[in-house]
Amino acid sequence: MKVLNKIRSFSGGVHPNEYKYLTENLAFETMPSPKQIILPLSQHIGKSAKALVTKKDLVKTGSLVAVEEGFVSAPIHSSISGTVKLIENEANVSGFPKEAIVIDLTEENDIKKFPALDPKTIKAEEIRERVKVAGIVGQGGAAFPTFIKLTPPKDKVIDHVILNGCECEPYLTRDYRLMIENPVKVLTGLSLIMKALNVSKGAIGIEDNKPEAIKKLSTAALVFPNISIEVVQTKYPQGAEKILIKAILNREVPPGKLPLDVGVVIQNIGTAVAICDAVVEGMPLIHAPLTVSGLGINNPKNLIVPIGTQLRDVLEYCGGVNENVVKIVVGGPMMGVTQYDFSAPIMKATSGILVLTKEEVNEHQETPCLKCGKCIEACPLGLVPTKLARYSQLDKLEEAEALDITVCMECGTCAYTCPANIPLVQWIRLGKQKVLKMQREINIG
Ligand code: SF4
Ligand code: SF4
Repeated sequence: MKVLNKIRSFSGGVHPNEYKYLTENLAFETMPSPKQIILPLSQHIGKSAKALVTKKDLVKTGSLVAVEEGFVSAPIHSSISGTVKLIENEANVSGFPKEAIVIDLTEENDIKKFPALDPKTIKAEEIRERVKVAGIVGQGGAAFPTFIKLTPPKDKVIDHVILNGCECEPYLTRDYRLMIENPVKVLTGLSLIMKALNVSKGAIGIEDNKPEAIKKLSTAALVFPNISIEVVQTKYPQGAEKILIKAILNREVPPGKLPLDVGVVIQNIGTAVAICDAVVEGMPLIHAPLTVSGLGINNPKNLIVPIGTQLRDVLEYCGGVNENVVKIVVGGPMMGVTQYDFSAPIMKATSGILVLTKEEVNEHQETPCLKCGKCIEACPLGLVPTKLARYSQLDKLEEAEALDITVCMECGTCAYTCPANIPLVQWIRLGKQKVLKMQREINIG
């Protein structure tokens, strides 16, 4: 075990109010099964899964209800025992209705699990297979099917696995609680990922505002040789993949390239815990650990929630919202999605629900650009947000492409820092989508 004392950082970035105090000392509670769950067939990047069940079918907790379609896809399991009510388009936290299996709760019974495997003797191929059949996807937001990350192309040489324990988004304390409540699971999950990739070096990057997590993991890591705990500065967006790789290994991921192009696989804390549970306990991915926070929720919590539970049921379980609420967001405040339909369900990669009041939300009027350059100073990737947003507004796609709009990771740092309250990231996201579409059309044509 090796703990580096040097605090690593990056240029740019911001220090938003953290509000972590609302939930950081609250241990996980397990939410009881709701009366109904909604399981979207697409809870991951890639092709939607294909439903295996039909109306009136009986399913058990842990039953496979949808299989993967194609290579980039993931199976889905029921998080309750019940009866399939229907399969149709339902509200989704993305804001766009998606096809989903709706299941009504019947009686509770035991979870249908896979056979437990020994993490000491398990072989690499068995880890990949278990991760695949358990339906594990990245918990860091992107929801990329994890077994694919554990199966890199043969021409890529991977020599490091990094677990992202930064949790740099304000409010969220899910990963923090996972680290302090389950350090051995986190380390076992990381060692399984290393074994699957035949890699001997692993690291966990943690921001220096989490001393308890650093201490717990450092102690538990004494029996995990080849895993180091790396302390990085608390600054948003320290947890962005490229930034964390640079901070820990001093390797630059070039624009348009992936971590595996510089020999690194990066995973989230929650993903490591899910992998440990799938191997050691045979658990399919049916629960989402998440944070419910914000000054607008009556009882903030860290909760283990059955996947498919509707937002309104989670909010009710947390004592409901108070009269000062102006906005409800799924995810963190910087990159999360504002919600308008509270029947939308919790998905595999949902990290939090934030119930925000006027005090926490910037509702100032947008004004013309002041040409102050603050957004440029703040962008951790060295982009020019003010120009990118302008080109997007004017549909000047070639100009936006030339200024690397597709490199933008949509972290929201520029918009946060803008004194003119210009929704920079929204404009850049729109422009990026248009440029990517243009590039696809050029490639096809
Ligand atoms: S959203 Fe994009 S342009 Fe804005 S700071 Fe983040 S990476 Fe830079
Ligand atoms: S921070 Fe806002 S006001 Fe300042 S240059 Fe950027 S877009 Fe203009």
